[in-house]
Amino acid sequence: MEDIVIIGAGTAGLSAAIYARRAGKKAVVLEAMTYGGQIINTPDIENYPGIKHISGFDFATGLYEQATALGAEIKFEKVTGIKLSSDGIKTVKTSSSEYKTKAVILATGAKNRPLGLDREEELTGSGVSYCATCDGAFYKGKTVAVNGGGNTAIEDAAFLSSLCKKVYLIHRRDKFRADAADVEKLKAKENVEFILDSTISRLEGDDTLTGIEIHNVKNAVKQHLDIDGLFIAVGQIPDNSAFADVAELDEKGYIKAGEDCRTKTPGIFTAGDCRTKTVRQLTTAASDGAVAALAACSYCDSTEINS
Ligand SMILES: Cc1cc2nc3c(=O)[nH]c(=O)nc-3n(C[C@H](O)[C@H](O)[C@H](O)COP(=O)(O)OP(=O)(O)OC[C@H]3O[C@@H](n4cnc5c(N)ncnc54)[C@H](O)[C@@H]3O)c2cc1C
Repeated sequence: MEDIVIIGAGTAGLSAAIYARRAGKKAVVLEAMTYGGQIINTPDIENYPGIKHISGFDFATGLYEQATALGAEIKFEKVTGIKLSSDGIKTVKTSSSEYKTKAVILATGAKNRPLGLDREEELTGSGVSYCATCDGAFYKGKTVAVNGGGNTAIEDAAFLSSLCKKVYLIHRRDKFRADAADVEKLKAKENVEFILDSTISRLEGDDTLTGIEIHNVKNAVKQHLDIDGLFIAVGQIPDNSAFADVAELDEKGYIKAGEDCRTKTPGIFTAGDCRTKTVRQLTTAASDGAVAALAACSYCDSTEINS
């Protein structure tokens, strides 16, 4: 039997594996795709403390090598559910196997919701971004657009307005889900222009984004904008439906947990972007990984479950 099964080999899951192994626990990490999670395709990370600049691939590879060198086992299997039994043993089921364990850490992350435009994936990292906090600094003094009408879009536009020459805020309606006071503050900024009732219909540029075509949904007029960067802020999609019976989910599907990373089920913890929190970054994912792993280690030490 395992001590700790970690679901997801992103920053949170691999950080948890490092802490679990250093505490002497048997730990297996189960990953549905490839190691590294969301950060893997990002060319530039410049906000991880202690590392001035690194690519997402190198960052993820460093975490993977550190976890495996410490003895963490990483298996590429998608987890489909967890069965609880009265003796406290958890059975983690995957597409091809099952694992009995004392504790589980859910570190399944989240995906950014795409707009679904042609070449969106290809231009991600080359003018298209989903994270103003991560990539805003690359657009200092430039012209950018933010797409979205929720709190994230408004916060992103406000953040970018302090760095960029010009910020367009594009929203498909004329009303916002974001807090009205924040919208008014943003409207008052001289370098921010609102383009409402509009959607983005085309991304332009060869290797790098150079502009977008906008479509007004009320009068069908099309407009072209020259921009250096597009920040898409139309939400994130967590996928925790397989765990809804062992952990409580909020209305968006995030696993409900506080800074202690505990779920409603004793012995099941959660870490990183998949849990309810306000800041979803590498630092907070790594921090959660440490907190969840140490809590899981204490749980293993205090539980009566026999190996
Ligand atoms: C384009 C981009 C750029 C970014 N740039 C930065 C940056 O510069 N700085 C910064 O701090 N943050 C950045 N971020 C945010 C950062 O990547 C995330 O906060 C971080 O990756 C969260 O880590 P995580 O481990 O919680 O989740 P993830 O990285 O999402 O990893 C979760 C892993 O779990 C796996 N998984 C999911 N479900 C299952 C299942 N059922 N079974 C098995 N495995 C499963 C997934 O395949 C994935 O590998 C960026 C994000 C994106 C998308």
